Amino acid sequence: MAYRIPLSFPVFEGNEKLYSEQAISSGHLATYGAFIDKFETKLAKKIKSHEAVALNSGTSALHLAMVLLGIGPGDEVICQSFTFCASANPIVYLGAKPIFVDSETDTWNISPELLEDAILSRIAVGKKPKAIVLVHLFGMPAKIKEVMEISQKYQIPVIEDAAEAVGSKVDGQSCGTFGTIGVYSFNGNKIITSGGGGALLSNDTEIIQRAIHLSTQAREDLPYYQHLEIGYNYKMNNLSAAVGLAQLEQLDTLVEKRRKINAAYREIFSRFDGFTFQEELEDSWSNYWLTTVLIDEEKAGISNDKIRVLLMREGIETRFLWKPLHLQPVFREMPFYGGNISEKLFNSGLCLPSSVNLEYSELEEIAYLIEKEISKSYH
Ligand SMILES: *Cc1c(COP(=O)(O)O)cnc(C)c1O
Repeated sequence: MAYRIPLSFPVFEGNEKLYSEQAISSGHLATYGAFIDKFETKLAKKIKSHEAVALNSGTSALHLAMVLLGIGPGDEVICQSFTFCASANPIVYLGAKPIFVDSETDTWNISPELLEDAILSRIAVGKKPKAIVLVHLFGMPAKIKEVMEISQKYQIPVIEDAAEAVGSKVDGQSCGTFGTIGVYSFNGNKIITSGGGGALLSNDTEIIQRAIHLSTQAREDLPYYQHLEIGYNYKMNNLSAAVGLAQLEQLDTLVEKRRKINAAYREIFSRFDGFTFQEELEDSWSNYWLTTVLIDEEKAGISNDKIRVLLMREGIETRFLWKPLHLQPVFREMPFYGGNISEKLFNSGLCLPSSVNLEYSELEEIAYLIEKEISKSYH
């Protein structure tokens, strides 16, 4: 169904068309071409110091990150439970087992305390985790510094799933550059898009060289096709990179706009009781890819689902927060450390329309519709 006001819709107001035409004129549309190099260079410069490899999705970037860290059959990998399935699926592709950890209430991301409990508990049964997957959900930076300390203490690498957090920062440092390997997504509804795409980030030149090699079918540098190991067709194509580069040029403006939308929601929704927002910590800066609210049904006089349905009828798209992976039927058998934090967030939360071209009047309309429904239920 096409919504009048979609959740997150891309706008192409920069050089997208110009660069796409140039890519087509160059004849290079596949995994070789000038825009791929430009995109990688510009991205690395933007996030400072890290090297970037452009790939064809965030999921393939996560998969490749796990391959590069040597994850294989029988291994265990700790993963934030409150996330999209793509954070954990590659663990299963590799025959390894995800160990899910609950969130904390400040940022809604992985709880450092529960993470340490999980590590100690797995070590006690002789299964030291091979990696930690942390996520910056909806663009909100996780407690990454605490998690990196735990990573160092136990010598377990961190895969930083910053798929939703391109442009987010902690202490001025870009999300995606803290972990051993960082991952971005440029899928259609993310803060910037290349149609479909992703990136793998690392400061370790060896990891980057291996990522380039493995993402291009592990072809040896010989006049004939020679392969010493199994590779993947995971590189970004030149046409996607053309669109991605044009979007990347606008990243700062797009983040500013999303932050303004978030601020406007806070202001307009301040008239409601029982509505709370995801909050930045003192040193963190969210790209506010999606504005999300928690609705305390008792205080608000309305539930998240009631709001979802009533807005849907008016052609306005909202979405539940990610359903925690430990509650997904497909991951039912997997170990979980924590309580009901992410479950409660899922039960009361809602993602609100957050496209950059959203008008203030549309936000007022959303608030008006909710207000009308609340007053109805009092009579
Ligand atoms: C979008 C997303 C991914 C996957 O990225 P794709 O480019 O869609 O494959 C991974 N993790 C999170 C948290 C995401 O939101």
